[in-house]
Amino acid sequence: MKTPRTIVRRTDWPQGTTRAVGTPLQPSVVYAAADPDDLDRVYDEKSGYTYAREGHPNATVLAAKVNFLEGAAHGIVTGSGMSAVGVALLGVLKTGDHVIGGDQLYGRSLRLMTQELPRLGITSSLVDPTDAAAIRAAIRPETRAILVEVVSNPTLRVADMEGIAAIAKDHRLTLIVDNTFTTPRLYRPLDHGADITIQSVTKLLAGHSDVTLGYVGTNDAALAQRMMEANVTWGLTPSPFDCWLAERGLQTFDLRFDRAQATAARLADALAGAQGIDRVIYPTRPDHPDHNRAVALFGGQGGNMLSLVLKGGRAAANAFTRAAPEVNFAPTLGDVGTTLSHPPSSSHRALTPEGRAALGITEGFFRVSVGLEDPALLIEELTIAAEAASKAR
Ligand SMILES: *Cc1c(COP(=O)(O)O)cnc(C)c1O
Repeated sequence: MKTPRTIVRRTDWPQGTTRAVGTPLQPSVVYAAADPDDLDRVYDEKSGYTYAREGHPNATVLAAKVNFLEGAAHGIVTGSGMSAVGVALLGVLKTGDHVIGGDQLYGRSLRLMTQELPRLGITSSLVDPTDAAAIRAAIRPETRAILVEVVSNPTLRVADMEGIAAIAKDHRLTLIVDNTFTTPRLYRPLDHGADITIQSVTKLLAGHSDVTLGYVGTNDAALAQRMMEANVTWGLTPSPFDCWLAERGLQTFDLRFDRAQATAARLADALAGAQGIDRVIYPTRPDHPDHNRAVALFGGQGGNMLSLVLKGGRAAANAFTRAAPEVNFAPTLGDVGTTLSHPPSSSHRALTPEGRAALGITEGFFRVSVGLEDPALLIEELTIAAEAASKAR
């Protein structure tokens, strides 16, 4: 290797006859061209990178892999799941438009619909996505898009995706699906009439609770271009390191998902009969309110998320988390380890007790994001915790 003539000039990267097996991490913000003609080619033919906010290799590599999973021709990686939701809405809507959203969307998505969009002169209606007729009834002349999640958080209701896709097609509305809970392993929105699919990559795809990232995918080139413009201009591009970490996590996504899902199905059945448990909500269980739809959409798979309702109130809920100290009580999902979340004190704390009760979310309600522990150990820990909860006063 040549000795540098001054330390601020970069040296060549060492070349050899072998090549790295691991994905390289490229943190460079800027890219040098040979001359202005060369730079013209980069812009005109998109034959390289210029400035990291406009795109960088680690985002390209990650987007290509999520595109493969979602069956998308075009994909954009964004700095968080929420920026992915934002990019999708900014790419589709303008002042004067109306958008229909699921009434149990992710909390921040609800806030985006009801507090941020109105500031831009965009109105929204929130409708139960298990009821396609209600969605149709909410359409106005200025409606442009529908935003739904396939499985709702935390009640795990399954949206009428077939009905909604048909309505979107009839009325030429852009159908945007937040596929975070389901992941492309359970459901691929673009294969079933959606125009845009969204992932909070933070959750199951990256899977290790060490990056915050999002993704939007589409098969419509013009839509992809508009979303890319929104991403770059509003400055939502993620850092190369986060993309690199997420791509590393993604390599085991299929294995993690299948394992977590198998454990979740076993855990759901074990807890359904356990002392201290009033109810278990899991899509493939026959007592799930949308059981038939879940089976039709997900081909018999139920995913890694389940919810449970303890007998008893806040005292039982406190006893439950305290009796399972090694299962993290933390408001996330999709981690390699199982996590418990308690919507009344976290995601749904802004609602009144009556508002929560209308959704079936009582003080004993927990959402479980099942991870990769030994299933027998997890069943034992949560069964003991539910038993302890049943004795709490
Ligand atoms: C977490 C989540 C988001 C937001 O993702 P962040 O990466 O936290 O910004 C959006 N939608 C759903 C369904 C989520 O679970």
